Amino acid sequence: MAQALMEIIRIPAIAPENLGEGELRKAEKLTQMLEGIGFDKIERFDAEDERVPSKKRPNVIAYYYGENKAEKLWIITHLDVVPPGEDSLWTITKPFEPTIKEGRVYGRGSEDNGQSMIASILAIEALKNLGIRPKRTVALAFVADEEQGSRYGIQHLIKQGIFNKDDLIVVSDGGNENGSFIEIAEKSALWFRVRTIGRQVHASRPDKGLNAHRIGMEYALALDKMLHEKYSLKDEYFDPPGSTFEPTKKDKNVDAVNIVPGEDITYFDCRVLPNYDIEETLNGIHGLAEEFEKKTGATIKIEVSQKSVAPKPTDANSKIVTMLKEAIKQVRKLEPKVGGIGGGTCAAFFRKIGVPAVVWCTIDETAHQPNEYAKIENLANDAKIYAFLTIS
Ligand SMILES: [Zn+2]
Repeated sequence: MAQALMEIIRIPAIAPENLGEGELRKAEKLTQMLEGIGFDKIERFDAEDERVPSKKRPNVIAYYYGENKAEKLWIITHLDVVPPGEDSLWTITKPFEPTIKEGRVYGRGSEDNGQSMIASILAIEALKNLGIRPKRTVALAFVADEEQGSRYGIQHLIKQGIFNKDDLIVVSDGGNENGSFIEIAEKSALWFRVRTIGRQVHASRPDKGLNAHRIGMEYALALDKMLHEKYSLKDEYFDPPGSTFEPTKKDKNVDAVNIVPGEDITYFDCRVLPNYDIEETLNGIHGLAEEFEKKTGATIKIEVSQKSVAPKPTDANSKIVTMLKEAIKQVRKLEPKVGGIGGGTCAAFFRKIGVPAVVWCTIDETAHQPNEYAKIENLANDAKIYAFLTIS
């Protein structure tokens, strides 16, 4: 399993938004692997995307038929990975040169989402080797574009009309350290960039210009404070319990120390509890920007790149939740806990169309970090849960 995971990690699948070439090479490698195992059917649903060299964002589905073909259990994982980030922080190995150390596979995409991908595939391989047909058909879906909003991934698949209201859906892209947590709800997401425009001048004559960097920083800090104070509600059902507002990415400005920047760009990632109206939050962000414009004479533009309103949570009594709880009890001997997270997984798109979906896997939550890893024992143990689900 670890070797299979390492093969997958070696092929980066980065979105065009982050100057990557997409998922095609990885999807082809994966398809080879699936063909070797002998699934009953493998299908591809590509979404067209002019921004990648192949012009295709691939979505792969592998079916293993069950006694009851009408009922389907889906295990959904994503092909794409986020960029490695700061190179020097990768101290164990290079991001796309996976290595095994102390029972862990290190590399970008090892936990997010390679671990679950390989665990789901090898669960089916094990069933096949044992000559066991599942109760219901198992469909493994490997989707594109999860990290950038899923337009070319799960949203494209849903448009094909291949999902039914009574399908059982596990999105294996979030969880906790011992695998006891079943996610059924998430927060609304709001991503935006703050573009502050002043006037560029020589740094010895700031009086003649307008330092966009200083104003941008002041606005960002004021916004950060305002958001945390105004949206301070805690809901213990979620982990973490409050809304999160984080200044994240920062665009480069001028090339030299002695230039006062005329433009400043900062990004925010906000995850807001479903209790709040995201439009109202956005109005507050604009309102504060106008205040700063009046005060400083700069122009502040708020450009939203992602806005997703949290859908209605999956019913805690739905069949897939009950099945997964039972699997965790039987296989792990643990008491399962059902709740919500910061979100942004494929499950939201199912909830939007009224199909119950859960998010589950066993992870240390190293996704998007340097030295990301997957524990080999999690690979094996999660495969057991998947196998249990197919026959329960
Ligand atoms: Zn993920």
